[in-house]
Amino acid sequence: MAEHNFDVVILGGGSGGYATALRSAQLGLSVALIERDKLGGTCLHRGCIPTKALLHSAEVADVTREAATVGVNATLQGIDMPAVNKYRDGIVDRLFKGLTGLVASKPITVVAGEGRIVGQKSIAVNGDTYTGKNLVLATGSYSKTLPGLEIAGRVITSEQALQLDFVPNKVIILGGGVIGVEFASIWKSFGTDVTIIEGLPTLVPNEDASVSKAMERAYRKRGINFKTGVRFQGVQQSATGVIVTLENGEQFDAELLLVAVGRGPNTAGFGYEENGINVDRGYVITNDRLQTSVPGVFAAGDIVPGLQLAHRGFQQGIFIAEEIAGLKPATIDELGIPKVTYSEPEIASVGLTEAKAAEIHGQDNISVYEYNLGGNGKSQILGFSGFIKLIRKNNGPIIGIHMIGSRVGEQIGEAQLIVNWEAFPEEVASLVHAHPTMNEALGEAHLALAGKPLHAHA
Ligand SMILES: Cc1cc2nc3c(=O)[nH]c(=O)nc-3n(C[C@H](O)[C@H](O)[C@H](O)COP(=O)(O)OP(=O)(O)OC[C@H]3O[C@@H](n4cnc5c(N)ncnc54)[C@H](O)[C@@H]3O)c2cc1C
Repeated sequence: MAEHNFDVVILGGGSGGYATALRSAQLGLSVALIERDKLGGTCLHRGCIPTKALLHSAEVADVTREAATVGVNATLQGIDMPAVNKYRDGIVDRLFKGLTGLVASKPITVVAGEGRIVGQKSIAVNGDTYTGKNLVLATGSYSKTLPGLEIAGRVITSEQALQLDFVPNKVIILGGGVIGVEFASIWKSFGTDVTIIEGLPTLVPNEDASVSKAMERAYRKRGINFKTGVRFQGVQQSATGVIVTLENGEQFDAELLLVAVGRGPNTAGFGYEENGINVDRGYVITNDRLQTSVPGVFAAGDIVPGLQLAHRGFQQGIFIAEEIAGLKPATIDELGIPKVTYSEPEIASVGLTEAKAAEIHGQDNISVYEYNLGGNGKSQILGFSGFIKLIRKNNGPIIGIHMIGSRVGEQIGEAQLIVNWEAFPEEVASLVHAHPTMNEALGEAHLALAGKPLHAHA
């Protein structure tokens, strides 16, 4: 049993863990990165990247179906799922090789195996002990299910959904949040009959109410079925399908049931609580400097309560490394973290929703403007519809931006700068946006809110 000592020992090599490792190494700290599976974690292997590759194939299918509308003769002959998966795996493999090479090029010791805390700042892996002056916990999350709902056979989570080598005929998706609507979008484009069951009153319930409504309109138009405000009661499986029963007695049959009811923190069995780390319902509790209840032990990524997003994990990793190196980085403003739902249409948002802004500042102290993409030349060329909604504090900065429409995710960069730099609409209105781009719509929305609309009614 060998003893190894480092400045920083990191448990988990996903977004949060490897970002901590890379920044720590840049800052001259010695680093051990412990990973039981593959560097890159959920995002690279089972999350962000593979799903977005499938969404791209889905977009190509839709574009082919609609090719005649722009005068191109093309016929969609079908979806070759093994070939789609091959394309997807190629992307994941290339990124994985790139990440592995990047980490290997730095003074980072990668330790393969499952780690467990065995002392305040020591982790045991395969019989060896890795002790850090600082410890970083980044063990990620798992797909949750409901009490009594077993994941087996035709009842699957996103992990199994990504492994399918066929396009199902009919699917029920339990959960209308980000992961649920993304899979609904993919499968519908591939030709599947999709029904989403959501217990809350709307799809994408965490978004601004007008965006959730617009999403429902768009899904209705696409022929994606959904039931909201209804609760799941049970499922029966047979050799050929599933029958889902809701609490109101309604029944739905399908080939598969995808359970997309959120992700839980993966923290059980790794010695966290036994070693004094404060854990609440599985989540590791930290202060705003991401330190746990044990000094010198930090946590990053999905195990820390808040948005479960890869870019939050990256930023937390960078923050922790800089904190350990004594750089005193500014704390991360969770409200300033951009969110994108990569479906068709996409949703992109940052800052406060209208309801939250009204609750905090008072409805009379905020102004709201919705710019319809119907006025945006590039969106018209591409056949895209949707809107950009801005919320400002009266005589003050923009405090929320909410967008819905195809590819609006690509616009979140400027939106998050506007919100995080607390820009006034008048300031954004004075910046020139290129014509014709979809991004121009953001400029137009700010022009309108600044009282000088160009291609829009006031
Ligand atoms: C279907 C899906 C789509 C998603 N799409 C997006 C998206 O488009 N954009 C976005 O921002 N986010 C997306 N996410 C969320 C994103 O994947 C997560 O927020 C992100 O991966 C969290 O990073 P993490 O480092 O906390 O955990 P993870 O990426 O889960 O990494 C944790 C790592 O720790 C390892 N590990 C765990 N326990 C141990 C142990 N005891 N010893 C050693 N190793 C251990 C695991 O093997 C894993 O590699 C998606 C998630 C899913 C499931």
